[in-house]
This record gives sequence, structure tokens and C-alpha cells, in this order.
Amino acid sequence: MLDRIDVPLELEGFEVTATEIVEGVLEVSVSSTRRPACHHCGLVSVTGHGRNERRVRDRACSYPCVLRWSQRRFRCNDCHQTFRETHPAVAGKRRATERFRRHLFERACIEPFTDVAISEKVSGYRIEEAFEAHAAAELVELDPDPPRVLSLDESAFRKRFRFHTVFSDPERAAVLDLVEGRGKGAVFGGLLAMSDEVRARIETVVMDCHWPYRHAVEEMLPDVRIVVDKFHIIRAIDAAAQRVRMRLGKRRYRQRVGHAGGVSRQHNPATLEVSRASTTRPTTRRSIAPGGCS
Ligand SMILES: [Zn+2]
Repeated sequence: MLDRIDVPLELEGFEVTATEIVEGVLEVSVSSTRRPACHHCGLVSVTGHGRNERRVRDRACSYPCVLRWSQRRFRCNDCHQTFRETHPAVAGKRRATERFRRHLFERACIEPFTDVAISEKVSGYRIEEAFEAHAAAELVELDPDPPRVLSLDESAFRKRFRFHTVFSDPERAAVLDLVEGRGKGAVFGGLLAMSDEVRARIETVVMDCHWPYRHAVEEMLPDVRIVVDKFHIIRAIDAAAQRVRMRLGKRRYRQRVGHAGGVSRQHNPATLEVSRASTTRPTTRRSIAPGGCS
């Protein structure tokens, strides 16, 4: 009795020529049925010019799945240029199908990247790449009304070693963009990604006390109002108050210890002499001969 099932590939333009399981991975040999056309002049009169096998990761089907695409190469009969065939399911030189990248993105939206990488048996890089590519497209597709207020803040990934600048709309509690880095360049990049119309609608930019953000906004959006948000101001005040409290606390502690010890350091002639000697700079220097120290 056979213990196998047939599952459709559901990738139009590919036909399955063989399947086998190799070390726990379902390897599906496919070839394209699409009619080739010259990439350079668009002519469909082309001649075969060899093949090469390309491995492309696809969505799992009981096993992790890899497409072994026998990719054809052609020579144009008109312009005589050579080219490789393409397929809409595999963008550019990607090593994963579009639907698999989309699947990774959807999982990464609700699960930690590491968990997704382990369960899908892919690298963390592939998860990040798929997430960033689709997140950018999703944000464009959402196309929210241009924000009146723009918020800039930094966010750390990988245990604070990798920073991103988050562009958000606080009025709608929506993230607009995520740009790598937290310097002026990141702000320039995020603002340049917006259209002129969107930038023109921004009235207020809310940020923390990070000066590169401020400088970048002043250069790119000279007419907007810059507001430092309440949270960061209170945190800065709290940190300053903490420093003053610690400084005063140390001073009082020294005074108390001095009195309790009988004679404070300031009124002890012996320590006074030592401190004077240690703080007085020598008035003469030993001269060093050109030949070296004598
Ligand atoms: Zn051509």
C-alpha cells in the first residue's frame, strides 16, 4: 500500500518533473512552461543556450520544500544577447519564492523572528529580509492620510546593538516607517521616502532630545514645530535630580563620617599637609639629555 499523497504545486508556469526526499527535505524538480522572450529587445525568436539548476526555497509541505528549478538560458536571434528565463514566483536572484517570503512575513508579524526561523528551518537573515520587504510594501499599500504630527524615536534590536528610527503618527497610533540607524541619515532617508505632499502636510514633529534628529528635521522641514515629548523631558529631569541627590548624599556622608571619627579630614593638620603636597605642582623639572634619561 502506498503511503504517499499528491499535492498540487500551485505555481502557474511551473511543471513538476520529479520529487524526492533528501535528508528530510522535499526536493521538487520543476521547469518553466512560460514562453521566453528576449529581455533586451522583447523578441520571442530565441534559441536555447543551456540550462542550470537553481535551488529555491518554497513553503513547507510536511517537509521543508526546495524547488530545483532547471532554469533555461537563451540567445536572442535578433540582438544575439543571452539571458536567463525568469518567473514571477521568484523575484530577481532571490533564493526563496515570493509566496514563501510572504508566509515568513505573516508569521513574523505575530511570532518572534527566532521562533519562525527555527520552525521554518531558515536563517534569521531570511526572516528579516522577508519582513522588511513586505512591511515596506504593506505600509505603502495602507497609504494613510498624510500625518499632521510625526513622531521620531529610536528602537533597539539585537540587544541594543542595532538601532532603527521609528516614524509614527501618534494621533492614529500607527507606525509609518522603520529606517535602520539613529543618526541624521536615518531621518533623511525616512523623510525622503515620503512624497512631497506628505512632507508638506506635517505640522509638528515630536522627538526625544537626540540632537541628530533635531538637526535633520530642521534641515529637511524648516517650517515645522519641533516638540520634545513629555516622557523624555520627565526622564531627563528625573536623571538630573538623581545625579544631584547622589552628589549631595555623598557630601553629607563624608561630613558625617568626619565628625564621627573625631577629627574631620579638613581639620586634621596631617591630612591637610598630605593633600597640599599632592595638589601642589612641582615648580622645577628634571631636564632630559638628548641621549636619554640620566
Ligand atoms: Zn533580443
